[in-house]
Amino acid sequence: MVHFDMGSNTAAKTTREAVDAARMAEVVRFTARTLVTERPVPFGALIVNTKTGKPLQRAVNAVAKENDPSSHAEVRTVRLACRKLKSASLRGYTMYSTCEPCAMCMANLLWSGIDRVVFGATIADANRHCRQIHISASEVAKRSDMQCDVVGPVERDLAYTLFTHPNMLRVFKMWGKGTQAKRGLAVPTSTSKRGDA
Ligand SMILES: [Zn+2]
Repeated sequence: MVHFDMGSNTAAKTTREAVDAARMAEVVRFTARTLVTERPVPFGALIVNTKTGKPLQRAVNAVAKENDPSSHAEVRTVRLACRKLKSASLRGYTMYSTCEPCAMCMANLLWSGIDRVVFGATIADANRHCRQIHISASEVAKRSDMQCDVVGPVERDLAYTLFTHPNMLRVFKMWGKGTQAKRGLAVPTSTSKRGDA
């Protein structure tokens, strides 16, 4: 028996993977712009229409600039996107994030009803450089009533270059690392750069 669907499904999957990789490269490039500023950040996000791929909003982490611990790239991008749409729903949209969303960001994404979340570097990758909450994005999604496909890591090596840029490494030293902070050896301070699209 010939499975005619198989070929087209595989092709569709391959196409989607290629599109996801291209979108990830795009948000990495956008986020990399902060690396040559006085406030480099490795965290950037982009929201596009799931069907058409049309970009809606992008933003980077702005915790220090906005004096707001919730101003992670993903939360800011959702906030700005919803404001633009004049709607609290992001159904029909997909987020690309340079790093796996933290529990706060993933919860916010679930509340927005977004279709898909595609991430680059993992929480473990980020944790080599800065403090993290160790709950995977897919775990947060799994334990919710909302349906959201969490895909990643996609273009992980490329996304991780944001974390290992010399300017970023310098800033990470000031942020302090989780284990040290927990032992009271360092007081982390964060810095960021606003980068709305
Ligand atoms: Zn976050």
